[in-house]
Amino acid sequence: MTFSYTQISNYLRCPRSYRYRYLEGWREKETRAGMVFGRCFERALAALFQQEDCAGTLFQEWGAFRDASLEYKKGESWDRLVHQGVHLLERFAQENRVRIQAPQQNLQIKMVHGLPGGHEFVAYLDAIGELDGKPSVIDWKTTTSRYPDEPAGVLSLDPQLICYSWISGIPAVTLVVFVRKHQPEIQYLKATISEERRQEFRRLVETTVGQITSGQFPAHSGIRFPQNGCVSCANLGLCLNNQQLIDTNLVRISGASDLDWLDELMD
Ligand code: SF4
Repeated sequence: MTFSYTQISNYLRCPRSYRYRYLEGWREKETRAGMVFGRCFERALAALFQQEDCAGTLFQEWGAFRDASLEYKKGESWDRLVHQGVHLLERFAQENRVRIQAPQQNLQIKMVHGLPGGHEFVAYLDAIGELDGKPSVIDWKTTTSRYPDEPAGVLSLDPQLICYSWISGIPAVTLVVFVRKHQPEIQYLKATISEERRQEFRRLVETTVGQITSGQFPAHSGIRFPQNGCVSCANLGLCLNNQQLIDTNLVRISGASDLDWLDELMD
C-alpha cells in the first residue's frame, strides 16, 4: 500500500475518519473557495518560476471557477481573491528572496520512501530551492491569517515540514505563507529539523501504518474544547447517521483508493 502525509495525519486525528475516507471512499465536497483558489495560486507560482505569465495563469486557472458555486468567507468574492493573488505574486517577485534552479525538476517533486512490509510512503514537495541564498525544502501556503512565528523555533514542530525534511533528507525547511488580508503579506518562516525529530517521524509513520494495516479504526470523538474535532469534521453525518448532513458535506467515490496518495498534491 502507498501512504502519504495526508493519510497519516488523517488517521492520527481520528482513525474512524480515515476509514470513512480511505476504505469506504467518502470525500468532502470541494466547495471552499479559499482552498480551490490556493491550488490555482500555486500553479501561478510555478508559472512565475518558469518565466511565464503568472498573472495570466492565475486568471486562467481561477477563471475556470468564476461561475462555480463555491463557499466564500464573509467579504470574499471571486474578484477580490484574484486581486489579492495578483498583488501577492507581484510582491513575491519584487522581494525576490526565493530561487528555484531548474524549476521543471525542482517544483512538485515526487519522493518515495520504502516502509516495512513492502509498503511505501509518497510525498510531493512543493519545491527545493534557496531562500536568501541558503538551500531549503520549500512549502507554499495561502491563508487569510498569519502563521504563528513565536516562540523562536516553533516551526520546527510542524509535522508536515518534519515529514518533508525526513523524506528529502534536507534539514532546512521554509514555509512561504501568502497571507490574503486587507494588506497582503508574505511570511518567510524558516526552521531546521533535527535528525532526531526526523527519525521520530519515521517511527510515527511506521507505527501508524502498522495500526492501519491491522484494521484498527477506533473513533477519536470529541465535541468539547480543545478536543472538539467532531464539530468541524466533514464525516459528522456518518457518525450521527444523519442523511441530510451526509448529502450536504460528502460524496462517495468508488474504486479510487489506489490513487489516494494524490491527495498529497492537493495539500
Ligand atoms: S465525527 Fe468525530 S468520531 Fe466521527 S469521524 Fe469525525 S472526528 Fe471521528
